[in-house]
Amino acid sequence: MKFLGNDTVEIKDGRFFIDGYDAVELAEKFGTPLYVMSEEQIKINYNRYIEAFKRWEEETGKEFIVAYAYKANANLAITKLLSKLGCGADVVSGGELYIAKLSNVPSEKIVFNGNCKTKEEIIMGIETKIRSFNVDSISELILINETAKELGETANIAFRINPNVNPKTHPKISTGLKKNKFGLDVESGIALKAIKMATEMEHVNVVGVHCHIGSQLTDISPFIEEARKVMDFVVELKKEGIEIEDVNLGGGLGIPYEKDKQIPTQKDLADAIINTLLEYKDKVEMPNLILEPGRSLVATAGYLLGRVHHIKETPITKWVMIDAGMNDMMRPAMYEAYHHIINCKVKDEKEKVSVAGGLCESSDVFGRDREIDKPEVWDILAIFDVGAYGISMANNYNARGRPRMVLTSKKGVFLIRERETYADLIAKDIVPPHLL
Ligand SMILES: *Cc1c(COP(=O)(O)O)cnc(C)c1O
Repeated sequence: MKFLGNDTVEIKDGRFFIDGYDAVELAEKFGTPLYVMSEEQIKINYNRYIEAFKRWEEETGKEFIVAYAYKANANLAITKLLSKLGCGADVVSGGELYIAKLSNVPSEKIVFNGNCKTKEEIIMGIETKIRSFNVDSISELILINETAKELGETANIAFRINPNVNPKTHPKISTGLKKNKFGLDVESGIALKAIKMATEMEHVNVVGVHCHIGSQLTDISPFIEEARKVMDFVVELKKEGIEIEDVNLGGGLGIPYEKDKQIPTQKDLADAIINTLLEYKDKVEMPNLILEPGRSLVATAGYLLGRVHHIKETPITKWVMIDAGMNDMMRPAMYEAYHHIINCKVKDEKEKVSVAGGLCESSDVFGRDREIDKPEVWDILAIFDVGAYGISMANNYNARGRPRMVLTSKKGVFLIRERETYADLIAKDIVPPHLL
């Protein structure tokens, strides 16, 4: 049996295999809760972008760059894997920039996003000679120019515009609407004003226009609208004598969390974006094209394995309690996100159950009223598509250490993140002398 979006797993002989490894055996060997990341799936996802967008380089002679959004999953093994494949980095903090450098991402493939970059982070970006800061406000523009001046450098900048496009996704992950905190508003002229200011400044070099409208988009039309708004703005800039080299359309392509619903692919995205951009080829020079996918590179590569410790019947629900919890993977609690769940052992009987973690919060539920192979105590359940915004959002709530993570690949199974211990939980706490 196959699952939509998960190309490297299968159910065979009643067992669940990830990259050819039996999930129950992985759980036994490494303990639970356990994140399993499939190297093979990440490669497939990355190559789908490269394949789909090859046409951009062929038709325009300009670059196409994938800058992986580190916030989706910045585990060092994952970032090194993507870097080796040739992928760039979209970072949003000094910490992520540090990880990108450790992962040997070439500086010309690093872009720096975020709406509150500190002076320290700006220094770090300038010293790394990153491709561009995606400037989010006039205040930030001024700080970047001043900081570059102090360092005797020139900083490359792109402007993040707010195009007021509805991405038709969950409100908590939409970013390109007027009411959102991100970007410089285009319609009111603030974005143009900021760019004109920048061209007068001595220590910044305007290279691009950037936009990111939201995440988990399952409809292509907002991307087309976004590309149009960006290109209309590039045309407007050209009229002002400002030439743009890079157009960065952010991330946002969704993945099929629900296994019975086909959604647009990298190919659909490429066709939509490339065709829209090419409509402008008589008006402006075609730019380098940058995308910042996070979720669509790594989400479908990740599985969270949890062991069933208790089963409880209430008058309305049968609860299956597993040792993974919302601190390990908070998307369902935070966004009411749907994640497919299976029992890693096939049974003769299915049962309707709700799957919960063990934290003291009613929102600590991974799925309600799911038909799965009849769970029994000690079974292993797999929560699908947790490779993005899983471990990167994990925390220590309820004094729970974050889980282990392994990478499965053709080369074997590798531990890529150690489980946090009780000692780790208090490692940064300091007790003052009078309480010792
Ligand atoms: C979160 C984010 C991304 C990645 O979004 P995905 O939906 O994971 O592809 C890209 N760019 C920016 C600016 C972001 O904030």
